[in-house]
Amino acid sequence: MNPASSHSTNLQLLFFAVIMVALWHSEMLFNEIPLKEKWKHAVLNLQFLLTATFIQLPLSLAVIKVSALAEINSWGIYNHLPNIPSFWIKFLIGFLMLDFCEYAYHFVMHKISFLWKMHLIHHTDKFVNVSTTVREHPGETFIRVSFMIVVVFVTGIPIEILLIRQFIQSFSNVVSHTSMSLPKKLEKWLGYILITPSLHKVHHHDKMPYTDSNYGDILCIWDRLFGTYRELELSKINFGVDTVKDEHVATFSKLVAYPFSKFSKKTPVNMVDQTTKVIVDLPKVLIVDL
Ligand SMILES: [Zn+2]
Ligand SMILES: [Zn+2]
Repeated sequence: MNPASSHSTNLQLLFFAVIMVALWHSEMLFNEIPLKEKWKHAVLNLQFLLTATFIQLPLSLAVIKVSALAEINSWGIYNHLPNIPSFWIKFLIGFLMLDFCEYAYHFVMHKISFLWKMHLIHHTDKFVNVSTTVREHPGETFIRVSFMIVVVFVTGIPIEILLIRQFIQSFSNVVSHTSMSLPKKLEKWLGYILITPSLHKVHHHDKMPYTDSNYGDILCIWDRLFGTYRELELSKINFGVDTVKDEHVATFSKLVAYPFSKFSKKTPVNMVDQTTKVIVDLPKVLIVDL
């Protein structure tokens, strides 16, 4: 990794840590759960930071290396675009490409049974706050960063765009998990193009079809475009996954073991879909019959 990339990566880690700590403390002003519970919750989630660091750091070096090679060798779609003189238009194109790939990644993680069993670890948090941001199964960390290597190889996005977007993504992810709410009007306006805390909380609702909605990472335009955008009042949101029992995911070791356990075999993604369909369609049927 060249010194500039290394410096930027360190800056991002520092930025991520500062934002997380600042928001975690700010949440206490408005809160919700007793401090002892909040600490217990954070300690469980922060253990995933350790596994993520070991997996993500070496693979991130590979992402940067592939990006540099793509630029030198003119690999990928981005390097074969018509000559656009404006950096900002090129930045926007690269940003949109990456954001769409992240949307597609998240969609697939929900739709393929084995991948969902890993990804649902993030969803099993019964209390969503900034520490939920890092609650990711190590298997998913590996899949996510490996997927990014493929994305960079196929798109050929240059390092500077990757790093700037990563910066924005880190900020967006932490903010979208905070237990605090933005003013309603601001949420509404931002929600036309961005994934806001309210929209991401809908994604954390324990029942379908809400769990399978608002997949966007930074932008919500893909959800609006592909019909996966949903809104739900905060008071109606219940965090978690309705097909997972609390006692099966109560500790760090249980969470890591869950995708491979006998319990996860009972919650294939298709079953969740079918169950939900019945639940969602039932009131309509009743209304028609009446
Ligand atoms: Zn998800
Ligand atoms: Zn989340």
